[in-house]
Amino acid sequence: MNITKDTVVSLTYQLTVEGNVIETVTAERPMEFVFGAGYLLPKFEENVNGLKIGDKFSFELKSDEAYGPKNADAIVELPKNIFEVEGEIDPQLLTVGNQIPMMDGEGHRMMGVVVEVKEEVVVMDFNHFLAGADLSFAGEVVGVREATEEELAHGHVHTAGGCGEGCGCGDGGCDDEGCGSGCNC
Ligand SMILES: [Zn+2]
Repeated sequence: MNITKDTVVSLTYQLTVEGNVIETVTAERPMEFVFGAGYLLPKFEENVNGLKIGDKFSFELKSDEAYGPKNADAIVELPKNIFEVEGEIDPQLLTVGNQIPMMDGEGHRMMGVVVEVKEEVVVMDFNHFLAGADLSFAGEVVGVREATEEELAHGHVHTAGGCGEGCGCGDGGCDDEGCGSGCNC
């Protein structure tokens, strides 16, 4: 069967950016998703639409089809003292390139990267780490099947016959929108 809306697709792929391997997904643990559920970048889905098991793919997504350009507004200076824990700043925390999980004023979690440490402030970049990057994907389709009604309702894949197992909760596979209501996680 061919990949189309409401099928569950399993893929292997390697993601490279400017020749550097960013991510490798193998057949032992393929990426599984409900096609058309909005889980993937629309342009990614467009490129694998209609393929079947065993078909290989290779395509590039320009940054504006992927995570967009780097946004200058997402690079901000934060006062150093917010990084204090009990009046002290861990010098290892404020190392250029270090990723620090933070929360904005509304409680949204976001990952910031330390760009520069100045006298009074720390320059942090809250852009997606792939913002501004052109993404090259190459891989193979290793599974296509019809999604169950429950999977379509939840918008994600269930393996081993249930929701809890299949959500990928705990390893970052399930975000708040995807899992909260429908899953037993
Ligand atoms: Zn579920």
